[in-house]
This record gives sequence, structure tokens and C-alpha cells, in this order.
Amino acid sequence: MSHHDVVVVGTGLAGLTAAVRLAEDGARVLVLAKGVGATHLSAGTIDVLGYAPERVDRPAEALGALVDARPGHPYALVGAGGVAAAVDWFKARIAAGPLAPYAYAGGVEENLLLPTAVGVARPSAVVPETMAGGDLRRDAAICIVGFRALKDFHPALAADMLTRAGVRARGVELDLVPEGRVDVNALGFARAFDAPAFRAEVKAQVVAQLGVEERAAFPAVLGIADPHGAWTELEHGLGRAVFEIPTLPPSVPGMRVHKSLHETLRRAGGRVILNAVVTGAEHRGGHVSALRIRVGLREERRGADWVVLATGGLASGGIELDSRWKARETALGLPVTGVPEPGAERFRPGYFEDHPMARAGVAVDHGLRPVDGGGERLYENVLVAGATLAGAEPWREKCGDGLSLSTGYRAAELVLAASTAAGAAAGVAGS
Ligand SMILES: Cc1cc2nc3c(=O)[nH]c(=O)nc-3n(C[C@H](O)[C@H](O)[C@H](O)COP(=O)(O)OP(=O)(O)OC[C@H]3O[C@@H](n4cnc5c(N)ncnc54)[C@H](O)[C@@H]3O)c2cc1C
Repeated sequence: MSHHDVVVVGTGLAGLTAAVRLAEDGARVLVLAKGVGATHLSAGTIDVLGYAPERVDRPAEALGALVDARPGHPYALVGAGGVAAAVDWFKARIAAGPLAPYAYAGGVEENLLLPTAVGVARPSAVVPETMAGGDLRRDAAICIVGFRALKDFHPALAADMLTRAGVRARGVELDLVPEGRVDVNALGFARAFDAPAFRAEVKAQVVAQLGVEERAAFPAVLGIADPHGAWTELEHGLGRAVFEIPTLPPSVPGMRVHKSLHETLRRAGGRVILNAVVTGAEHRGGHVSALRIRVGLREERRGADWVVLATGGLASGGIELDSRWKARETALGLPVTGVPEPGAERFRPGYFEDHPMARAGVAVDHGLRPVDGGGERLYENVLVAGATLAGAEPWREKCGDGLSLSTGYRAAELVLAASTAAGAAAGVAGS
């Protein structure tokens, strides 16, 4: 049985953040995950707090009020200062990562207002540099450029919705198809945009269609290997601000985040094993000593001093409900709180309503350790981060990635602090 300092379960934003932060401080880190997480589906923006419940303009300020009013919210465990520290760390890692000089813009002080693919304004705090030019608080007309072959991105629809909201916008569509393929998704277009010849063709077709004062919007497919190159080349070539609008899955900006953090982890000596499902744990008293894992058809055991559980909750299979609505935490069998009683209301009709089911998850104490129904710490060496945590409503509050980033970062800081303290105590005992 191999042994690591830390095993992180899950390779979403929370798991990768914890893993990178730990590995860069010298910990021997192994990440085990069933598959990739929500990075490949969501917008690739770090939405810190979009609604509380009204639209938030200044997230840092609103976070203070939120944690005062909702002490059970996971943000109360990291605080506004902790969120800001995690955001600064994340921005620095992306800017120094394998896609550099691709970088993120913004911060926790204010939300930008970015258009979605259906032309609705969404508040977001920390966004790819390639999206920041779409801030709708700026009064500049927008020409949305789409590709007929890219399904689920319709410039005319987005422009019409924006126009109804008072933004001057219109759409144009190009007939360019990468490599002459019949069915191309966002990733196929992103790969095409990595090639200078495709960028040149797009520029040539678009330039004559743009009004003098219009900024140009594209679906978020401007390169996967060289997004900074593709974006700056279009800005220079078209002589105006160019920005990306997130698409439906797969999410190219989210894949860039995953690639950046994964490669940064590898450079720091950490390792990721995919298709590794954690199915249980062996423990001695209040310590987990080893994890049971299913890798394909093989059963394995992995030992660790620490475990960071970042399995993403209901959306990623970290928490499952059976046909009787009984909830189960799939990796370690931890208790799940906040699930409505049988017969009680679970969901409300409106998508963004306060769904009773939304706050279900694993309850933790101030040290991110899982607790039982009476609030007693279950394991000393297990920390929980990200969407697995109980108490938030990430969809409604628009805080999913801010929460996963900041709690993943906090989990790593707590492990590092505890390891340093244990090391110092051992030094004193040995002297
Ligand atoms: C389509 C979509 C759109 C979204 N849009 C937004 C948005 O606009 N703004 C926003 O703030 N948030 C958004 N979110 C939410 C946000 O993306 C997530 O809350 C956040 O990224 C979750 O990150 P995580 O690391 O906590 O979990 P995840 O990214 O879900 O990762 C969980 C990981 O755990 C692994 N795993 C699960 N169970 C096991 C097991 N037993 N053993 C081993 N591995 C396991 C999974 O394979 C995965 O690697 C969106 C989510 C989706 C799906």
C-alpha cells in the first residue's frame, strides 16, 4: 500500500486548489478522482457572490453581511479575507501556469456584469482576461460573432435579449467550419483558433462587418493551447476590444483552468489518478488511515496522513440520493445534513428559488473537519471542501466556484498549519 502525506479526493476546482497549494509547500500529494469535475461544464469564471438575494455589486462587502446573517454558510468558515487570499493565489497561479501569459482579471471588490450566451447579464468577480471586455457596465455597442456550425450559440438570440435590456447589440454568423467537419463543438473550434491560419480567416471574414465603435464578442472558443495569443491577435487585427461569451458545455475556459492547475500540480510533484473511485475508508479511532479505491475492476488501498474530500456533492456523485431520498456521501460514508424529511418539500417551482434540497451536504466544524448530528468532530485528519459542504446555495447565490476555490485553499492552509505544528511538537519532544 502506497502512502502519501495528503490524498485529495476530487479533481474539480476545490480538489485541484487544495492539491496545488499543498504540493507547492512540499507535501507529497496524490489526487484520486472518478473523473473530471465541473470545470469542464461551468463558465470558467470565479463567481464569488452574485446574489444575496438581490444582485451584488461589491462581493467583499456583501460577504461580510452574508456570513453575519448565515453562520452556517461555508463562507463563514473562510471569511471575506480568506476568499480574497484564495482569489489572489488563483490569479497568480494561472498567470504563471502553462497557458501564460493567459491570466484572470478582476477581484473580490466588485462584480463585472458579463453577458451569457442567451444575452442575460450575470455578475462575476474574477474572470478570464478574454472575457473582461464584455463588461456590460461599459456603454459600448456589441457585435456578437457566431459560427453556424457551433450549435447552442446563437448570436441573434443573444443580441436580441441584450437589446431588450438596453444594450446596443447585434449578431452576425460565419460559415467557417474547422477542418471541414460536420459536427464541431466548442473544443473543436478552440483547437482551430490555436492555429494562426484559422484566426486569419476569421479576421478576414469579420473585419468588414464591424461598425466603427462596436466591440466584438465571440463564443468562448478562442484557443485552448494559446488563448492569450488568439485573443490578442484578434484584438489587434480587428482594432477593437474583443471578448468571449461562455458557451454551453463543454466549457473551454473551464478546461483552461483545469489544465493550468493540473500542470502546476505536476510541476510541484503532485500526481492525479483518474477513474479512481473512493468507496470507503479504514480508520483507527478518529483517524482515517487508508482509503479503499476502485480503479477499473481493481480494488486498491492508499494510505495518507491527511485526506481532503472535494467530491462536489450531488452534481458530481460525491453525494447520492436513493429512491427513498436517503442521502449517502459516497467516498467515506460521512453523514449528510440538510436533506428534507420524507414528504417535506424538496424543490420549489422556480429555478432560482430557495430550494430546501439545495443546502444539503456534509456539515463541518471551523477546521473543515466533518461532524456528526451533534456537532462532534468525526475525523481529525479529514477535511471537506467545495460543493460537498452543507449550507450554501451555489446556484442561487452564484458563488459555486468562489466557494470551491476558497474552501479548497483553506483546507490546504489548515493541513499545512497542523503539519507544521505537529513537526514542531515532534522536534521539541525529540530535543
Ligand atoms: C453546468 C454547470 C454550470 C455552472 N455554472 C456556474 C456559474 O456560472 N457560476 C458558479 O459560481 N458556479 C457554477 N457552477 C457550479 C460550480 O462549477 C461548482 O459548484 C464547482 O465548480 C464545484 O467544484 P468542486 O471542486 O467542489 O466539485 P466538482 O467540480 O464537482 O468536482 C468533484 C470531483 O470529485 C470527483 N468524485 C466524486 N465522487 C467521487 C468518489 N467517490 N471518488 C472519487 N472521486 C469522486 C468527481 O469525479 C470530480 O472530480 C456550475 C456547475 C455546472 C455543472
